[in-house]
Amino acid sequence: MKKITHSEKETMSIAKKFALSMKGGELLCMYGDLGAGKTTFVKGFVGALSKNQKISSPTFVLMKHYRVSRGKIDEVVHIDAYRISDTSEILNIGFEEFIGDGRKVVIIEWADKIKNIFPKQRIDIHIKHLGVDTRQIEIKEKKETESL
Ligand code: ADP
Ligand code: MG
Repeated sequence: MKKITHSEKETMSIAKKFALSMKGGELLCMYGDLGAGKTTFVKGFVGALSKNQKISSPTFVLMKHYRVSRGKIDEVVHIDAYRISDTSEILNIGFEEFIGDGRKVVIIEWADKIKNIFPKQRIDIHIKHLGVDTRQIEIKEKKETESL
């Protein structure tokens, strides 16, 4: 799926709609430059599954957990891999335990930093800067059987 958005608000509403299609256990890998709108997307996404949560980029803490309530999903795990220099750092925070847990959805910003440990089954979200307020959001589901 490819969508063009013209504002922060529009990006959040795309993310909200997408969030409501989650079943639990998904891994969302986000790619895009600084200021592309990754954190904005996460805000919309978590906002659709919960109320009254403060979402900010977890750049300085690597990972944040948001309590949510949507079907059997009770948590969104938000990882910002920007400062990761070694994939062992992500394994140390329990990354592999979160993956595939049907009660969680895991979202990673700067996912390209840790792509050598990705499972094949994941959802890739590429956000591209097209103009001051214009972005392209491309969402692609990757299956176990496809090549990376
Ligand atoms: P990232 O996490 O990718 O670094 P952020 O979501 O933190 O990016 O920041 C995106 C910035 O771009 C915000 O300041 C936001 O207001 C601005 N912006 C402008 N247009 C858009 C758009 N269409 N979608 C998302 N953000 C936008
Ligand atoms: Mg960010």
